[in-house]
Amino acid sequence: MENCISGKTAAHCSCTCTACDKRGNCCMCVAYHNERGEIPGCFFSADAERSYDRSLARLGKDRGIF
Ligand code: SF4
Repeated sequence: MENCISGKTAAHCSCTCTACDKRGNCCMCVAYHNERGEIPGCFFSADAERSYDRSLARLGKDRGIF
């Protein structure tokens, strides 16, 4: 897609896992976590993101959903 910024820069990525080779590439990041039943780091608050727990349960707790 012409306007997709994934792969061009990581500036939009809020994930702090700088060693990850998918950082900044949203398509690869979403696919990776989706395969594992997880949620990408950018859905979490800054504090929860740094836990590197990408589970749905952690997201629900982080966002006060459940
Ligand atoms: S959320 Fe996961 S796949 Fe995406 S950049 Fe961070 S560690 Fe990598």
